[in-house]
Amino acid sequence: MAVTVAIVGAGPSGFYTAEALLRSGLDCQIDMIEALPTPYGLIRFGVAPDHEKTRNVWRAFEKTALDDRVHYFGNVEVGGDVPLDTLRALYDAVVVATGAPLDRPLPVPGANKRGVYGSAAFVGWYNGHPRHCDLDPDLAVSSVAIVGNGNVALDVARVLLKTPEEMRATDLPEDVARRIHEAPIRDVYLIGRRGPVEAKWTNVELREMGRLKNCRPLVDPTSLPADVSGSMTERDRRLREKNLSTLRKMAGGTSDPKKKRLHFVFFAQPAEVLGEDSVAGLRLERTRLEAGRSVETGEFFDLPCGLIVAAIGYGTAALAGLPMDWGRIAHRDGRIAPGFYVVGWAKRGSVGVIGSNKPDGAAVATLIAEDAGRGGKPGRPELVRLLRAKGSCWVSFADWKRLEAWEIAAAAPGAPRRKLTRVSEMLDVLARTRPQT
Ligand code: NAP
Repeated sequence: MAVTVAIVGAGPSGFYTAEALLRSGLDCQIDMIEALPTPYGLIRFGVAPDHEKTRNVWRAFEKTALDDRVHYFGNVEVGGDVPLDTLRALYDAVVVATGAPLDRPLPVPGANKRGVYGSAAFVGWYNGHPRHCDLDPDLAVSSVAIVGNGNVALDVARVLLKTPEEMRATDLPEDVARRIHEAPIRDVYLIGRRGPVEAKWTNVELREMGRLKNCRPLVDPTSLPADVSGSMTERDRRLREKNLSTLRKMAGGTSDPKKKRLHFVFFAQPAEVLGEDSVAGLRLERTRLEAGRSVETGEFFDLPCGLIVAAIGYGTAALAGLPMDWGRIAHRDGRIAPGFYVVGWAKRGSVGVIGSNKPDGAAVATLIAEDAGRGGKPGRPELVRLLRAKGSCWVSFADWKRLEAWEIAAAAPGAPRRKLTRVSEMLDVLARTRPQT
């Protein structure tokens, strides 16, 4: 009898898990259950719209979804449509692959003012995520502060600073593109609470900031140390040296006649969001390093700005009372309990690139094979019966392919797709394009 597996979440970690299970030789039947109608999670809603090549991994995920042993249930919310306990009763193994979709709050007074957004919401908005498409940020500002020195901060800066021409071949939703490109943004500040050596950017992404058509990076050369010191792996040292070298080149090129500016601000951490109801500025406290950590100095300065995006990491949403551990689901080596597992950012926190989820998939496939024995729980037919009884309108992979075809056909010249951003629009397109039987 096939081992029945339910994977909750159809983002990268969910797909790598399904792929590993298919390859493992285990006789299994896999159901991927996703809250949104659309599959691929971060590939669709997290990867920056101007990094379309990074999204190509969906092709491998699609192969997995089209395997006879796999079935996709989109638009089904675990917790809402199907209680987690019910899912565990129906399947031999349940894998939580729900990622880390929640913004870590900016921990300073005034962070609830209008004009302060977390990167999950802001990136979700420009990537057409149904939960964030109504964010409506006020972009009639000349200065933007982005808190954090990771790749997400660079993504946000690039999307705000690129020219319409540079963003032409992207799937930025039309109204988002219009608002960004009409915005009078001149200065974007990237704020790191530690120094250039401690920044978490990867070098390819950092270098890209020096090649923007209408934006000049500004780096204070005195903020750059002569070399990378301290104990670290050779790989880390090389990456940090590369970043320093890139920043040095940026610090050297000053006479560029470009209109916009990207300011790298190091050793500064938010202390207070200034303004009445909406943001008028960000008060920053200078920091210094002590044993690798940022330490406050008591010296403050103010940065006038009308928009703040906190790109300071993400947390996992709590699922049906599961115990949490530092913004992740509590587990031991990926096992929450026998027959119950967690992978990806829900397991490890929001660290690592898309491919970092691959080993999680392989590890959990091994655990499932160890725990499941010969299976025995009914899985799919019972889930279908339950969803039908509730009148749930789930989206199959064939349905998704029709949505995808619609998005591709509706794309502007040069763009890969025109994203549907609302669940109601998606269901409407599905109803209109349903094949006649
Ligand atoms: P990240 O790499 O962990 O960076 C978070 C940044 O926020 C760090 O600079 C951190 O500083 C800072 N921070 C955290 N709490 C703060 C606070 N209270 N005040 C001020 N600063 C604070 O996270 P991320 O940028 O969200 O990226 C998540 C993961 O996705 C990363 O592994 C990233 O590489 C990956 N990603 C990759 C790509 C790509 O490959 N192109 C694109 C996007 C994301 P400290 O270092 O001092 O903690």
